[in-house]
Amino acid sequence: MDDGDDYTEEDALIVIDPQVDFCPAGRLAVAEGDAIMAPIAALAERFHHVVVTQDWHPAGHSSFASSHPGRRAFDTICLPYGEQVLWPDHCVQGSAGAAFHPEVAGAVARAGLILRKGANPAVDSYSAFYENDKVTPTGLAGYLRDKGVRRCVIVGLAYDFCVAWSALDARRDGFAALVLTHYTRAIAMPAPGGSSVDAAEAAMRTAGVRF
Ligand SMILES: [Zn+2]
Repeated sequence: MDDGDDYTEEDALIVIDPQVDFCPAGRLAVAEGDAIMAPIAALAERFHHVVVTQDWHPAGHSSFASSHPGRRAFDTICLPYGEQVLWPDHCVQGSAGAAFHPEVAGAVARAGLILRKGANPAVDSYSAFYENDKVTPTGLAGYLRDKGVRRCVIVGLAYDFCVAWSALDARRDGFAALVLTHYTRAIAMPAPGGSSVDAAEAAMRTAGVRF
């Protein structure tokens, strides 16, 4: 639990994809996604460094099931860079669903950086640090290092995909990583041996992510 923690100038709050399409009634709705928006806005007031990411896909993006005839949303396919889950069309650049949820506006207002990801039509980007090819950086690590940040405190949507991948890549790039689970919500898809939540948590624990 974070309550009572004192955050320092070496901490950055990374708010992952707090967007309308990931909230109830959105195109890729995460259950109760809207419930964490106002709390994240309040949390952001305790941080010197705030970064907000925004999933920002061109129409016809390769991660959309609609771009692959015969495939359905939540199928997994092989793309040149590896396995990719197919999603309903979501967070299309400039659409209402790509906008930030209104209740998170306070965090967006405090953000020193708003990082858009997923704009490459051929490669998805769950992580705030790397595209899904795992080699193309977004530039976030350099930004954080230049600001003197040593620890990433990660919240937002969705816990088992973009939050988890961001936390894993924070560790990979040498940052401490803390996920505040009560400021996240999960998609929770079935996966071998459990759900996508189990798989994400196992990977994060192995990588030294703290909760
Ligand atoms: Zn996306």
